[in-house]
Amino acid sequence: MPEKQYDHRQIELKWFERWKDDANLYRAEENSAKPKFYVLEMLPYPSGTLHIGHLRNYSIGDALARYKWMRGFNVLHPMGWDAFGLPAENAAIRNNRHPREWTLENIAAMKRQHRRMGFSYDWSREVNTCEPEYYRWNQWFFLRMLERGLAYRSKALLNWCPECGTVLANEQVVNGCCWRHESTPVEQRALDQWFLRITDYAEELLDDLKRLEGGWPERVLTMQRNWIGRSEGAEVDFALEGSARRVRVFTTRIDTIYGATAVILAPEHPAVAELVDDTTRARVKEMIDARARQDPGDLRKEGIFTGHYAVNPFNQARVPVWVANFVLTGYGTGAIMAVPAHDERDFEFCETFGIPIVPVIRPADGALVDPVREPFTGYGILENSGAWSGMTSEEARPAMADYAKEHGFGQRAVTFRIKDWGISRQRYWGTPIPVIHCEHDGIVPVPEDQLPVVLPLNVNITGKGRSPLADVPEFINVTCPKCGRPAKRESDTMDTFIDSSWYFYRYCDPHDGRAPFDRERIAYWFEIDQYIGGIEHAILHLIYSRFWTKMMRDLGLITNDEPARRLFNQGMVIKDGAKMSKSRGNVVSLDEMVERYGADTGRLFELFAAPPEKEMDWTDAGAEGAYRFLGRVYRFITRNADRVLPPGPCAGDEKVRRKLHQTVRRITEDFETRWHFNTCISAIMELVNELYANENEICGEVMHEAMEKLTLLLAPFAPYLAQELWEELGNGEQPVFRQPWPAFDAELAREEQAEVVLQVNGKVRSRLSTPFGTDRQQLESLALADDKVRAFTTGKQVVKIIVVPDKLVNVVVK
Ligand SMILES: [Zn+2]
Ligand SMILES: [Zn+2]
Repeated sequence: MPEKQYDHRQIELKWFERWKDDANLYRAEENSAKPKFYVLEMLPYPSGTLHIGHLRNYSIGDALARYKWMRGFNVLHPMGWDAFGLPAENAAIRNNRHPREWTLENIAAMKRQHRRMGFSYDWSREVNTCEPEYYRWNQWFFLRMLERGLAYRSKALLNWCPECGTVLANEQVVNGCCWRHESTPVEQRALDQWFLRITDYAEELLDDLKRLEGGWPERVLTMQRNWIGRSEGAEVDFALEGSARRVRVFTTRIDTIYGATAVILAPEHPAVAELVDDTTRARVKEMIDARARQDPGDLRKEGIFTGHYAVNPFNQARVPVWVANFVLTGYGTGAIMAVPAHDERDFEFCETFGIPIVPVIRPADGALVDPVREPFTGYGILENSGAWSGMTSEEARPAMADYAKEHGFGQRAVTFRIKDWGISRQRYWGTPIPVIHCEHDGIVPVPEDQLPVVLPLNVNITGKGRSPLADVPEFINVTCPKCGRPAKRESDTMDTFIDSSWYFYRYCDPHDGRAPFDRERIAYWFEIDQYIGGIEHAILHLIYSRFWTKMMRDLGLITNDEPARRLFNQGMVIKDGAKMSKSRGNVVSLDEMVERYGADTGRLFELFAAPPEKEMDWTDAGAEGAYRFLGRVYRFITRNADRVLPPGPCAGDEKVRRKLHQTVRRITEDFETRWHFNTCISAIMELVNELYANENEICGEVMHEAMEKLTLLLAPFAPYLAQELWEELGNGEQPVFRQPWPAFDAELAREEQAEVVLQVNGKVRSRLSTPFGTDRQQLESLALADDKVRAFTTGKQVVKIIVVPDKLVNVVVK
């Protein structure tokens, strides 16, 4: 057969047309005896259209899904839309479009692109979080949490623009000012907000990170650990002079308490109101507003002396009470004791404000330190500490906390950095919070049979004033379910992180109208086998969804403790040295790329250009290269597809078969372990080179085996082309990704060279590359002759030599 030229448009559109209405093509089976595999890419926010910077995680997930189908798994590979959120409201204000209309239009555009790329999603399970069928379950979960005290209402400080008269989201605060009023500094206002008690799960969220080791990237575990921020220490009460009040401080270093020279309160601490006068009150308010406007890293330490004193319960020392911006209200008790001699931050503060520095710990090793000039922050021996002097820090910490407990002024304590999850948003485009405010009954939950509380569509979004829902009379005015009197609905909506905290459960049972999902289905599909998404979600999304999973487990809805067994963070796609963004003008449009090179080239190049966890640089030259490679495969197979002669054996058979089986083995092992798709694809390229070089030296049978296996190997990476070639090879229209993954012959696939590790006394000193099957005696002498081995054996007596053929030689010397 004459070779054909690779026409990506013709090939991809042909299969696109055949596949587009086939609802069963990628459908996950409901009752299956096969092992299951749940592979999931984080659901996107429908912000517009996709560009090639978005392509990478989908390409990785899709390759894995296709590989697992070929390995005989029942694969669940769904997709959906994180459709609520602020950008839709901003677009509404800018373009006078309804957020729903804007969002649905973007979803349609992105879905078209996903389908054109040929991603293997089971669209029958599509989830769209802005639809009442979905968000009614957010409301249902909220009511369950309210019953259990896991949802509660409390005052919290929010960004407030006095000009707009409205609450601002953090994203709407630009350089400390309102995004619409660039010269109006944002203030902090205390307003009633809804919270979820995620801190009840702090200990478990931390402990269970151990179970995720090996499956989740180490840096994500570290980020989560730091975010949860567990510290062990003690609480100690300082009496306020001239007041009945006591100030409770949290410290991780109670052993340094004799060196405390001040008590410092967070500006929001409840005792502050009592301690400030008219002049300091304004300064405290300014401190609160200023802190909200700044990055904690840029914060200059500021302090205000209240004029009041507190008494250290251990030594009765009188210490000044300050208010400072570096003390956080959400950490510990919102009050600290300052020990400048033994804490960097306290030192910096006390030095600035002339507060005395009193050393009370000296290094146990006798090293000379001068804590008055530079704080000594290590553990050591207590001095100037009354009866505790001479103890070690390790001994003193528990003993002093227990002493405080015995005498009624303190105790051992654990504190977490993580705070309860504030979920109220004074926004329109989100899930309505299902409660009613009644003058007689207070907060009344919306009865379950009245769910969903549907978000009204007829609304005026201006970005000014209170939540837009408060101005929709037919929404806000209701009858109290308890007393039947007129009452008001809650006008706040939920944080959109709630939508993404459990969406992956809904994929298992997306059309359930009676429950968020069916237990049995969750039991079958969970945990997620592989979750894929950006490192930017390492903290909030993943903490919230872990919390949600534990909460649902405690409601008896599921039995798994964690949502995902394995997590992968893909690297970024960059162009001209920078992340793609509209403002930089370096965005490569997905549609243009597909038109020019085709979907297969785009996918193949993104996987080939770098290991998947590393940044990859999009270049036209690289895309051209990937395109040429696919053309090379296509030409080779089309011109050889019907070849039968010559009969074997031929001169190149052995060589080609060896290369073929080595390639299959390499890619199989890579999919199972390291995911170095870039080296997989370069292995396929080498194989194709070998085929070209031996095209006329191999018999028909070997040629056929090679072409068939090559096509199957390409199927996870370039699905359109692989399907076309599968048809060329006489297999009709049967989906190539449902064919069994090619097997390799272990004997043929064996690398010709074994890597032998050389050890001296059990320590690796060198490596050898030798032909497989090299005998013991020869390995011994090669090892003894090795320069690096000799460096450790010269002048010593060789006691024995342990040889594991093809693997290891250990020389034992003394
Ligand atoms: Zn404003
Ligand atoms: Zn009532």
